[in-house]
Amino acid sequence: MDGVLKKTISELADAQGVSGILSIDLAALVRNYERLSADLAPSKAAAVVKADAYGLGADRVAPRLYAHGCRHFFVAQFTEALALRPRLPADAAVFVLNGLQPGNEQACARDGIIPVINSLEQLRCWSALATALGRRLPAVLQFDTGMSRLGLAPQDRKALVGLLKTGNYIDVLFVMSHLASADDPDSAQNGDQREEMELVAAEFPQFPICFANSGGIFLGKTFHGMLARPGIALYGGAPMSGAQNPMEPVVRLDIAVVQVRTVPSGARVGYSATHITTNETRLATIAAGYADGLPRSLSGRGAVYCDGIRLPIVGRVSMDSITIDISALPEGRLTHGSRVEVLGPNQTLEDLARDAGTISYEILTGLRHRYQRQYR
Ligand SMILES: *Cc1c(COP(=O)(O)O)cnc(C)c1O
Repeated sequence: MDGVLKKTISELADAQGVSGILSIDLAALVRNYERLSADLAPSKAAAVVKADAYGLGADRVAPRLYAHGCRHFFVAQFTEALALRPRLPADAAVFVLNGLQPGNEQACARDGIIPVINSLEQLRCWSALATALGRRLPAVLQFDTGMSRLGLAPQDRKALVGLLKTGNYIDVLFVMSHLASADDPDSAQNGDQREEMELVAAEFPQFPICFANSGGIFLGKTFHGMLARPGIALYGGAPMSGAQNPMEPVVRLDIAVVQVRTVPSGARVGYSATHITTNETRLATIAAGYADGLPRSLSGRGAVYCDGIRLPIVGRVSMDSITIDISALPEGRLTHGSRVEVLGPNQTLEDLARDAGTISYEILTGLRHRYQRQYR
């Protein structure tokens, strides 16, 4: 999103004239962190702050969690680490999940960014740099335990043992892996991946284990390792799909009404007239659309809320606006400048994601900078 726009919206002193307000409850974030930490003790909780802390602002989220004891922060990309590193004290570790990229090794070493090593090739490269610099360099070794996405393959382990013995300038902080089905406690894949991780642990008993994501924490102690890597649960998303969400909501999203109208029966609503009224209907148009992260797949399916009353989305979601049926509300309740709830006590991330045919992660990371952000 346009940096100028982002700055302008954030500088508006109050919420007057703002199209949408994204409220981020940092105290709830901290309570979620503390709750996960308590479940994990004596193991520790890192914080996954990739994709700008799932869209909530890594520059606000990471320092706040640091203040409450978090010392391990995972981002996906090198550039995210570059941006985050100066915002955290030196005793916080910043890890790059996607690993080393050809050409960024020097910068990682210079700035104290710790790569998650995903291949022998990356390890050789990092090791060669350490030798050239004449100092030890830290790393996390990631193993693919059955997701086929990132990490060292089982057949790499023999060579790895050799590499770690000879001229070893690498400090391995953790061996890690990632669970593919942790949100589903009934999935047999969890046990399969744990067994594979136990083989890794047996081969490299000298290194602590970093294993569980949010869902993995709720699979129990045998998935915890020494360090867990929660993301979505910190931000209030449900760690297990289909089960009750033990986390506290962190985000609230309210959108301004920009026009209210009454239309007769038979009125066509929105692009391509996918909705036609069957009665005289009161409609409101609200100031956010798919460009603001409210997916077009909510067309004719999702809803927003006012005073706890469900107001269905009618017709297509536009780029910058959505039309809702407000007939269920008393006349005059919503006027130009009122706001409706998109995320809040009446509608969770999971509710909205379900209506949109996606997951909470995609909703959260899609809420972009046209909203005014209010940190509480
Ligand atoms: C994104 C990610 C996480 C965090 O996952 P959540 O399900 O959000 O807790 C942890 N580890 C890795 C490797 C990831 O890519």
